[in-house]
Amino acid sequence: MRTLAIVGSGPAGFYTAEAALKALGDDVQIDIIDQLPTPYGLIRAGVAPDHQSIKAVSRRYDAVATDARVRFLGNVSIGEDVSVAELTGLYDDVVLAVGAPEDRPLGVPGSDLAGVMGSAAFVGWYNGHPAFKDLAPPLNAEGVVVVGNGNVAIDCARILAKTVAELQDSDIVNHALDPLSRSAVKRVHILGRRGPHQASFTLKEVGELGELARATPLVREADFPPAEADAGLETGQRRVVEVLRRFAAAGPDAGKAVTISLDFFHRPLRVLGTTQVEGLEVMKTRLDEHGQAIDTGQTAVIPCGLVVAAIGYRTAGIPGVPFDDRAGRFVNSDGAISPGLWCVGWARRGPSGTIGTNRQDGFSLVDRIAASPAAGGKAGRDGLDALLAARGVAIANFADWQRINSLEVARARPGAPREKIVALDELRRVFTG
Ligand code: NAP
Repeated sequence: MRTLAIVGSGPAGFYTAEAALKALGDDVQIDIIDQLPTPYGLIRAGVAPDHQSIKAVSRRYDAVATDARVRFLGNVSIGEDVSVAELTGLYDDVVLAVGAPEDRPLGVPGSDLAGVMGSAAFVGWYNGHPAFKDLAPPLNAEGVVVVGNGNVAIDCARILAKTVAELQDSDIVNHALDPLSRSAVKRVHILGRRGPHQASFTLKEVGELGELARATPLVREADFPPAEADAGLETGQRRVVEVLRRFAAAGPDAGKAVTISLDFFHRPLRVLGTTQVEGLEVMKTRLDEHGQAIDTGQTAVIPCGLVVAAIGYRTAGIPGVPFDDRAGRFVNSDGAISPGLWCVGWARRGPSGTIGTNRQDGFSLVDRIAASPAAGGKAGRDGLDALLAARGVAIANFADWQRINSLEVARARPGAPREKIVALDELRRVFTG
């Protein structure tokens, strides 16, 4: 019997479990541990609430979680309730699938003003992550700046720009939908330090900016290189650029109240304000011969009451696990950290790729695990249960999550799939009585 503890129940964790079930057959026991009482990681708290078809992948994970060889142990925090060293002492293999939940800091003067936040916090707020339920981003000014040219920046801008009717059938939580319905926001600036050719958007996400009920994209022709240069782009990027060129040619729709301005070739210089954000001073940039952004010396101020930095994420360090501070992830060689300790997904490679990328990642890690000898003779799940019981840790198992799920579905507003329970104590009451 090979015993596996997988820390983190997001896509990387579940795909690793699925792969281990396939590769190791009946001779495996898998415990999937999560600090939250709810499973699915970024599927629940990261994927945009209006992208329900992507969230549907969680049904596939349910098949894994309900397999007789698998247990889900929610509400168990690694580093607090149990250490990694204890886990490696109990299980043959420990896989850290903890993602990259921390925001990369914006790192410009004024970043500590109220109204400056990272996308992990902002996305966590509208997605009902318990850690961000009280974020209350200021929505009382007309301008908002979202820094970054990736899909997360587009997600943030789109959620800020949509009408209540457009969000009605999403699982955005009411504590976000209510203030968004009263929002004063009229201009959302998506700030890119490089140009359309370098943007990290994907086609569906950029296309959606042209399909919004009350918002319209503003893209400037002057930001594009000559059209012939598009031929050198790989297909996906070329299609993104085609859509952006169409937006530029069409111009913004004057009949729409909200503008989403794609401000290419600008980087944040300084957040302005005394206690609260009042504006963002930006530097105009251009590309150097290596395709990197360099300053032109030309500055401008964008008035705004909210700055969201969507510039990438970092894995949170865990005591005793070697960490590459510059890259923001665990030190590892193809997923191997030390004998019996592995990492997978964003914790292994950094915050890149789609949900499907984590499937490949999980399956190839399990090939490596299966090819390595198991230490054997370890206490496995019985040992963990004893340790957590001695420490008085209440475990949320998968049946507990299914009860939480039923409660959330039952209290959904009309048309919505669920209304998430966002307070940890309320979630905990479901399984502690
Ligand atoms: P990302 O795609 O890596 O984009 C990060 C952006 O931040 C880049 O445009 C980068 O610019 C910019 N940036 C980094 N540091 C900066 C700084 N100091 N100042 C200004 N700009 C800075 O990251 P992400 O948007 O967080 O997305 C993470 C991953 O999740 C990606 O793989 C993404 O595709 C995926 N995702 C997918 C979906 C979807 O499929 N629907 C939705 C959300 C996220 P440079 O290029 O110049 O470095």
